[in-house]
Amino acid sequence: MNRPCIFCDIVDGRAPAEIVHRTEHLVVFPDIRPQAPVHLLIVPAKHIRSVNDLAPEDRPILADMLLAGKQMAQRFGISASGYKLVVNVERGGGQVIFHLHLHLIGGWQR
Ligand code: 5GP
Ligand code: ZN
Repeated sequence: MNRPCIFCDIVDGRAPAEIVHRTEHLVVFPDIRPQAPVHLLIVPAKHIRSVNDLAPEDRPILADMLLAGKQMAQRFGISASGYKLVVNVERGGGQVIFHLHLHLIGGWQR
């Protein structure tokens, strides 16, 4: 990683974000432009550009990301009502921040 990356900066504490959860592999913080009452970003500490760049050794990171999605849905009260876990992949898939992340989106009805 030699280009600036806002999510690397947040992971390393160089840029501000309200970190609501942290594990060995990831951090979770609210999206700056929420698309729903609950909109969190689940972001691996490792800089991985997109799903296209995943390697077999990234399996533990991916497992942590999905489990964090489940846990945060419970903590933010949208588990029972339901929610979306979304990964946008590259420009055509709507990705604008090229550091892998999982969107947790929900809370329209509880
Ligand atoms: P993408 O379209 O790449 O999947 O989503 C990137 C998301 O990151 C967008 O929903 C956008 O609002 C959010 N975002 C971009 N810059 C920042 C930032 O500096 N802080 C936070 N918390 N979210 C950001
Ligand atoms: Zn990064």
